[in-house]
Amino acid sequence: MITDPATLRVLLPLPLADAYDYLPVEGLETPPGTVVEVPLGKRQMTGVVWGAGHGNVPAAKLKPIANLSSLPPLPDTSRAFIDWVANYTLTPPGAVLKMAFGSLRVIAPKKNDDYSCSQPDTNHHQPELTSDQKQAAATFIERIQARSFSATLLDGVTGSGKTETFCEAIAETLRHGRQALLLLPEIAMTAALLDRLARRFGSPPVMWHSELGDRQRRLNWHAIAQDEAKFILGARSALFLPYPDLGLIVVDEEHEAAYKQEEGVIYHGRDMAVVRAHIGNIPVILSSATPSLETVFNVQQGKYGHVILPQRFGKASMPKIETVDLRQQKMTAQNFISPPLLESLQKTIAEGQQAMLFLNRRGYAPLTLCRACGHRLQCPRCTSWLTEHKRTGQLHCHHCDYAMRLPDKCPSCAAEGRFAACGPGVERVAEEVKTRLPEARFAIMASDTLDGAQAAQELVRKMEDRELDLLIGTQIMAKGYHFPRLTLVGVVDADLGLSGGDPRAAERTFQLLQQVAGRSGRAEDSGRVLLQTTSPDHPVMQALLKGDRDAFMAAELREREAYRLPPVWRLASVTVSGTDAKEVIAFTQELATRAPQSDKLRILGPAPAPFAMLRGHYRHRLMIQSPRNINLPRVLRDWLAPIKAPRTLRIIVDVDPYSFL
Ligand code: ADP
Ligand code: ZN
Repeated sequence: MITDPATLRVLLPLPLADAYDYLPVEGLETPPGTVVEVPLGKRQMTGVVWGAGHGNVPAAKLKPIANLSSLPPLPDTSRAFIDWVANYTLTPPGAVLKMAFGSLRVIAPKKNDDYSCSQPDTNHHQPELTSDQKQAAATFIERIQARSFSATLLDGVTGSGKTETFCEAIAETLRHGRQALLLLPEIAMTAALLDRLARRFGSPPVMWHSELGDRQRRLNWHAIAQDEAKFILGARSALFLPYPDLGLIVVDEEHEAAYKQEEGVIYHGRDMAVVRAHIGNIPVILSSATPSLETVFNVQQGKYGHVILPQRFGKASMPKIETVDLRQQKMTAQNFISPPLLESLQKTIAEGQQAMLFLNRRGYAPLTLCRACGHRLQCPRCTSWLTEHKRTGQLHCHHCDYAMRLPDKCPSCAAEGRFAACGPGVERVAEEVKTRLPEARFAIMASDTLDGAQAAQELVRKMEDRELDLLIGTQIMAKGYHFPRLTLVGVVDADLGLSGGDPRAAERTFQLLQQVAGRSGRAEDSGRVLLQTTSPDHPVMQALLKGDRDAFMAAELREREAYRLPPVWRLASVTVSGTDAKEVIAFTQELATRAPQSDKLRILGPAPAPFAMLRGHYRHRLMIQSPRNINLPRVLRDWLAPIKAPRTLRIIVDVDPYSFL
């Protein structure tokens, strides 16, 4: 790129193709990173000096920057990271800057503002580590002292003390006077951890996520930017904060798909954490009881280190996992709890222990059909059935906000009163519990039945105080919680995640069920897990039964290699979406004819996305596969940049897709 040192490139937080050139003002120091106000048309905007100007517009035509902003400069690492993410995800750098800054209006400091925060005490409540934990912590401490990039998988069964161990790494970073960032996949999980971290460090970390109010957001942003906040707990967006001295990133539950941002800038929080660590030349720790195949592959390739905690802490042992073959159970169409599971629930509760019934499906029934003609009630805007919810008395689409009352007549054959609810959601399981376990004190734990973090905390308290015998819930109940009296987990439909076109279906089901199983038997009393399945021989069930994760992952890896899928191969998807189906299809076809020709690349499609319609938009898709040594973002850019999409269509590029809807 040709540059003109007499001018400045100023990146604006807008989805423009590139930064604009401006003239410097004599006497104003504006090195790269300086936040400045610049004229843009009739407006004035805040932007960041990105370097020397392009020099492609004559200086006589350029406007000077207006003045300096009151915001602190954006560190080199932050700017390099923004450029990297923009380049990799095929997003305009200004769009990434916008995300990094949140809303600048909110961020601008105010005169009353006090950014001081209570400082973590690294020795406040330091537990006596077990020898395995000590060894793991020693490895991390060594890597932190090395002050250079390293990525390490912290791999330990649920309850083995991963959290205690990475807290030692955080403490070491803080002792060096540097900032430490702990990333979580979901905000819902922060509350319980926050308390625990406050107990460990004497004061809670500074939070960063989308649900902060404007004032708190501004205070936290400045506390972090001014190196006042040392320990930060955040969602993936926290990666983009302007840390002056970040020394460590820990990615908790690194396998979680929730780390992938699916809208706006499409990026994977875990992967970008590794990139951010690389740019900042610092260590990153990826923690999980069920690591992603991506990370396992990187360990095998020697790119990541591997630290293992093989045992649960204290007297806790791993739960015993069994399957219940549903094909051999006598059950009515209205019952979803098999006799062996019912018996175990009764026994557990009678003994004063607690149980959990897991079903990863909200609502009452996932499908309502007309018994007269077989018509299925479907969302008018999505390729999706409507889920009945007793709580609201309505049928809801789980992919858009569409909802309706159950109609009196079938919209297809006009038959009255012939609708049948098919299959269970957690509300239906609760109904069954009510009739078949009338003594049991239970609660439902699902994202739509819990009103915010406080309601979740209240449920947790009730479990801890033994005011409940049984929790019935979806995946939000699967992670993080520690209920010492919980000794039985029943999985209502272990096969649920296995169907569909997602290449990670088996891996994800394994991870989710392993996490759910890990809720059981976390204290002295041993735990038991019953998986209700119609395919007990499936590799996922077998791996869970035998506790043989490594063999399962090895088999998965061979399969991915054979099908040219990640992590062995690179994959990207290009989805065209619009309201006119014909136009969408025709344009996707045109993209396909202009696709790069190379024996290294393989193009799949065009084909309708599995959700051919989503929120009223038709979706057609191409997939592109390449060996790992190909720069796939560059291939995509060379292919797509010269093509101009009509304004009625959107092209969504997803490098390393995790959602295959
Ligand atoms: P993980 O993150 O691997 O699931 P945790 O760090 O949450 O495991 O540990 C499980 C439980 O055991 C927690 O209640 C934790 O406080 C306790 N624990 C783990 N290691 C120790 C230790 N060395 N000393 C005291 N308690 C510990
Ligand atoms: Zn819908």
